[in-house]
Amino acid sequence: MLRRMSEVDVRQGMKSVLSRIEEACKRRPPELEALEPRLVAVGKLKPISLIIEAYEAGQRHFGENYVQELEEKATNAEILEKCKEIRWHFIGHLQKNKVNKVLCLPNLYLIETVDSQKLATALNTNWPKFGPPDSKLRIMIQVNTSGEDEKNGIDPSEVCGLTEYVLKECGNLLLDGLMTIGRFGYNPEDGPNPDFLCLKRCRDEICQNLGLDWKNINLSMGMSDDFEHAIELGSTNVRVGTSIFGYRPKKE
Ligand SMILES: *Cc1c(COP(=O)(O)O)cnc(C)c1O
Repeated sequence: MLRRMSEVDVRQGMKSVLSRIEEACKRRPPELEALEPRLVAVGKLKPISLIIEAYEAGQRHFGENYVQELEEKATNAEILEKCKEIRWHFIGHLQKNKVNKVLCLPNLYLIETVDSQKLATALNTNWPKFGPPDSKLRIMIQVNTSGEDEKNGIDPSEVCGLTEYVLKECGNLLLDGLMTIGRFGYNPEDGPNPDFLCLKRCRDEICQNLGLDWKNINLSMGMSDDFEHAIELGSTNVRVGTSIFGYRPKKE
């Protein structure tokens, strides 16, 4: 099939990202060898046709970070028909008053951005109204590893407390892992990204303090510019948009 110059080749993008993930895995230290990083294709501001194209190329996990856009995509008739095994990750900032809008969506798999006890409580309370009977909603705790004011996420010093709260008080939630966005524009040539190291330390701390097995706590870190570096440092969930779907103009 001929493609116009302006069209991105999603299939080729997927292939290239997956092979770069595989190569990065080979560069990891031995204790990380058994972990298989999960690729989350981030389709924000990209049309439904490209999501379907990635799905048809074998991709299953997709991330969105605007509630309204996730709503439109997850309930789209063509996606519901053609992408029956799609797994949606919400990766944006979630306001408490939008919780039900997200929880009711078909094929919702994971909320990566829980950053307060209040939000955890709201998700825990409302999930039974929407999820299959006795199911748990997967969540990640978002950590502001860079300490930048404009970033969402809790302070690293609060991760243990929130984790404990989720494990003990939120019977309808399943802790899938920890997530960070990290500072913009860090150059991996300057050494291991301090944000990624920080997230790993948070995981070690909750595992030690709360008796969890670190292999069961995913680390969501790494995007188009640095997913290979993140994998080498132990990421098990990379969120990649541009490298799959092409350049994305800024919202608004
Ligand atoms: C947009 C976005 C991504 C993907 O960014 P790219 O640089 O396009 O790969 C990953 N994570 C979050 C939270 C995002 O908002």
